[in-house]
Amino acid sequence: NGELGDRRDAAFGPAMEPLSYVKPLEIASAHGVWMTDVSGRRYLDMYNNVPCVGHSHPRVTSAVARQWQTLNTNLRYLHPLAIDLAERLLATCPSSLDTVLFVNSGSEANDLAWRLAAHHTGNTAGLCTSFAYHGITDAMAPFSPETLPQASNRGHVERWAPTDTYRGLHTDATEFTAALERLDRRGLSPAMTILDGVLQSDGVYDLKPAYVQELLRLTHEAGGLWIADEVQGGHGRTGDAMWSFERFGIEPDMVTLGKAMGNGQPVGALITRREITRTFSNDTVFFSTFAGNQVSMAAAGAVLDVLDDERVLARVQHAGSELRRTLKGAMTGDDRIGDIRGMGLANAVEIVHGRANKLPDPETANQIKNGLRARGVLVGTTGPAGNVLKIRPPLAFTEDLIPTFIGALQSTLAHLA
Ligand code: PMP
Repeated sequence: NGELGDRRDAAFGPAMEPLSYVKPLEIASAHGVWMTDVSGRRYLDMYNNVPCVGHSHPRVTSAVARQWQTLNTNLRYLHPLAIDLAERLLATCPSSLDTVLFVNSGSEANDLAWRLAAHHTGNTAGLCTSFAYHGITDAMAPFSPETLPQASNRGHVERWAPTDTYRGLHTDATEFTAALERLDRRGLSPAMTILDGVLQSDGVYDLKPAYVQELLRLTHEAGGLWIADEVQGGHGRTGDAMWSFERFGIEPDMVTLGKAMGNGQPVGALITRREITRTFSNDTVFFSTFAGNQVSMAAAGAVLDVLDDERVLARVQHAGSELRRTLKGAMTGDDRIGDIRGMGLANAVEIVHGRANKLPDPETANQIKNGLRARGVLVGTTGPAGNVLKIRPPLAFTEDLIPTFIGALQSTLAHLA
C-alpha cells in the first residue's frame, strides 16, 4: 500500500477497517459524481451515498463556509437554523411525527432510538434483520450482525431473515414471527424493531408493502415500536419518495437519519412522536455538544434546498430505472450475473456461479469490483455472502453516465472470462 498505507497501518492499528480495493486509492478531490486521485485520474463514483447531491456541491460548500465565518455553537442558544431544519424535516413526514432531535451520526440516531424505545415501552429486547448494520455504539453492536459477532448480543436481540426476492425466500412473516417467539420463550418483549428500508447490508431487496405492514403490526402487537432507519434509504435514494418507509405505506414510530443528510458534513437526526420523548424527559434530558451546530444545520438545509430546486428525486427515479433496464439488456447472456435489482439509485447486481444454481460467488464479485476500479469506476460489495455488487452513486448520477459504467463492466467481465 506504499508509504502512506504503512503510516496508516502504524497510526490506526488493526481495529481500523481495511482500505478498499487491492490497489487502494489515494483521492485528492471530488466533484459531482467524479473522484480524482493524486495522479489526476478520474473515477466515476458509483459507491458513495454520503455526497447525496454530489461531491463538493457548490450550494452546500458555500452554505458551510458562510456559516463557519459567522457562528458555530450549540443548541443552548436560540438560532433559527436548527429550528427551520426541524420544521422542514417534519413537513416531509407523516403528521404523527412531530418532534426532532439532532445528533451527529446515524449510529447516534439509532442509539437514541433504542434508549427512547426502551424507556417508552418498558421492554428490553429488539429485532433487526439477519445481516443488518445499524451502528457503531455498544447498544447498536447486537443490531449490527454484518460487522459484529454474536458475542456482543446478551440474548436480547433477535434477527430475522428478510425476503430474498431473487430466490423467492421468506416472502411472508414466518421468520419474523419465529424471532418474536424466541424472545418470548426467554420472557422478553421487544422495545423496537429496526429496519433499513433498502436492506443495504442484507443485499438490497425491494420489500413488499404488505410484508412490512405485517411486521410492523406484529411489532406493535408485541408492545414494541417501529424504527425506520433511513440512513441508507432516505434523502431521495429510492427516487419515488423522500424516505424509503413511504414505499411501504407505513407510519413508523421513529425515523433515523444520517449519511446523506449533510452531504458529508457529519449530522444525524431522530424524528419521533412527542409522547415518546415525553416519557424519556421524565427521567433525563437530551443534549449533545455538536448536535444541531449551525454549520451542520446549514449543510443539511442546503441539501434539502438542492433536492427541491434541482428536482433530484424525479431524476433519481428515471436514472435508476434506466440503469437497471440497460444493465439487464447488456447482461442477458452472462451466466455470472444472477440478478439485477434495486430502487432508484440503491442498486445491486448479484454475482453467482450460475443462473441455474444461484450460488453466491463472492470471489468473482470481488474481482469485478477491483476490475471496475482499474477501469475507472467505483463500486462496492455487500450481502451476507459478499457476492452482491453495491451500486449507489451520489444522486447527482445522470442517465448519460450509464454507458460508461456498462462499458467498464463489460470489459471487466470479458477480461475475467
Ligand atoms: N444505519 C445504517 C442503515 C447504516 O448503513 C449505517 C452506516 N453504514 C448506520 C446506521 C450508522 O451510521 P454512521 O456510520 O453514520 O454512524
